[in-house]
Amino acid sequence: MKFDIKEEHLIIKPYKSNGTIQVREQKGTYQETRRVLSWLLILIFISIPFLQYNGQQAVLLNIENQQFRFFAVTFWPQDFILLASVLMVGAFALFFVTSWLGRVWCGFVCPQTVWTLAYIWVEHRIEGTRNQRIALDKQANSFAKLQKKSIKHLLWLLMSAVSASTFISYFIPTTVLYHEMMTFNCSGIVTFWLCFFTLCTYGNAGWLREKVCTDMCPYARFQAAMFDKNTLLVAYDKARGEGRAPRKLKDDPKQLGLGDCVDCNLCVDVCPAGIDIRNGMQYECINCGLCIDACDETMERFNYPKGLILYTSEQQLSGGKPKRVNSKVVAYGVFTVIITIATSVWINSRIPLETSILRDRNALYRTNYLGIVENTYTLKILNKTQQALHYKIFVTGLEESTLTLPKDILIAAGDMREIPVTLSVDSYSLTKRITNISFNIQATEQPDIVLDKKTVFYGDKNNKYAGR
Ligand code: SF4
Ligand code: SF4
Repeated sequence: MKFDIKEEHLIIKPYKSNGTIQVREQKGTYQETRRVLSWLLILIFISIPFLQYNGQQAVLLNIENQQFRFFAVTFWPQDFILLASVLMVGAFALFFVTSWLGRVWCGFVCPQTVWTLAYIWVEHRIEGTRNQRIALDKQANSFAKLQKKSIKHLLWLLMSAVSASTFISYFIPTTVLYHEMMTFNCSGIVTFWLCFFTLCTYGNAGWLREKVCTDMCPYARFQAAMFDKNTLLVAYDKARGEGRAPRKLKDDPKQLGLGDCVDCNLCVDVCPAGIDIRNGMQYECINCGLCIDACDETMERFNYPKGLILYTSEQQLSGGKPKRVNSKVVAYGVFTVIITIATSVWINSRIPLETSILRDRNALYRTNYLGIVENTYTLKILNKTQQALHYKIFVTGLEESTLTLPKDILIAAGDMREIPVTLSVDSYSLTKRITNISFNIQATEQPDIVLDKKTVFYGDKNNKYAGR
């Protein structure tokens, strides 16, 4: 892909808003797909915090307790690398889809797109069609205008509050959060985040809209690096469309020396980015396909073939053979599959148990009057499962040793317990001063949860006759 960088592109200009873009509501295949996907995604977003697993919230990022619960698995700060690996899977899947299908993420499933679509839908219901909205904005202030604007903004704020509380319920259990909200008993910090996310959603989806994509989103900037001549994009078929000009339904464009574009401007009116796709590929385009729906409708009315604006590729537009799958797409795809498999295996083989051993700092060892050598340790056991478990502890590497420890080691889900243990052995059994040993910690209810922890046992073999 060739980039034409001119000097004026390198000059940083002060930000200049292009005003509010009033989008015309459009029907068609792509708009319907967006609408269905949007409702589905909003429904999923709202429902997930209410899902229960084993009597607890199935998906919960509990920052206070430093746990991220995802159904049967709980991630801890120690699992951060694992979480990074999961995020890498998402990133590579996104690269794969972008290099293959262009900005479909932006156009169909990005939260900014989904929320903006919902807010525009409400705006349309309250203030009317695009032309009615433009007229309303130009009107002098009146009670009717104030009433419409107030209802719209109240509904937007309500939607933002629902969205904000839903988002926070991923971090605070729904039972706690909604009870506190209903009883006006939220702490200062929760109230702050509720207000913060409400205002962010209201500002982003209600006011900023496409400006988030064009001026704020970093992904919009760097994804062009994943594009090539074969990437799917929305484009206008210039060869077929020019020269553009309005005409009557019964006119023959060939006789008039015209192309198929009737210059109805609908593709511009429906564009949420406010661009004219006929001017060529532009970074503001989010590949939503609304201009395709609008143009197809016009083509149908004039009895011309559909597809003057279409999903295509640079290669296809310049008359070349479309090549949907190239080495870059395959590389991203293969990498995504490899990381997904590796991450799944990693998660599956992860042992939900964390242990550490601390030796008694005061004395390396003690020898009693019977010649028994004692070493004292503190075992820290963290139960990373979602249920309370009993643990068995035994020692390997030291023959005929005796372990003294609490009788019943029961640790609640997500809890850490310190267990003092004393290991004693007759000095006759010691062959060297430092013996390598292992503490073996195993969950009674789930024997596959087992860990070996290596340490050493000190004892003076020259002391074997002590006290006899
Ligand atoms: S140009 Fe077409 S595909 Fe691109 S953002 Fe506008 S309406 Fe969507
Ligand atoms: S919708 Fe189609 S016909 Fe109308 S102006 Fe756009 S490209 Fe031309």
